[in-house]
Amino acid sequence: MQLSEKAAYVKGMIDGLELDPTDKQTKVFKLIADLLGDMAQEIKDLEQCYDDVCDQLDGVSEDLAGVEDIIYDEDYDNGSISFGSDGLNDEYSYEVTCPTCGNIEYLSEDSLNEGSITCSECGEVLEFDYSEDELDASDDDAEDDIKE
Ligand SMILES: [Zn+2]
Repeated sequence: MQLSEKAAYVKGMIDGLELDPTDKQTKVFKLIADLLGDMAQEIKDLEQCYDDVCDQLDGVSEDLAGVEDIIYDEDYDNGSISFGSDGLNDEYSYEVTCPTCGNIEYLSEDSLNEGSITCSECGEVLEFDYSEDELDASDDDAEDDIKE
């Protein structure tokens, strides 16, 4: 039985007693019965609000999860091809200038270990030795070349 039903039941019981309507105690009983009914209705309204808020919060959580997917995927992608234009990630990434078209390719350590990559601009296969000299060669020039 719900609260509102219980309140109505109590009110009915009090009415059923056929108390003297002029008696002060009867008035107090009826006021209490009305108050119970009002409180039951208020609680019911609050429960409805609570349910609505929960539903909306679920929606927000789902939206946030979608946003998190986008953000973390992007971070992951950036990480896998990460290269320090600021120099912070130099030990994990390298760049190679295509001798044919001048395109700058950025390498992770994994692709570096494979010994060659294919230029994404002209399709030239770029082979390279693991050489520090070559890697440090053209940091400044590279930044101008990759501007679009
Ligand atoms: Zn090329």
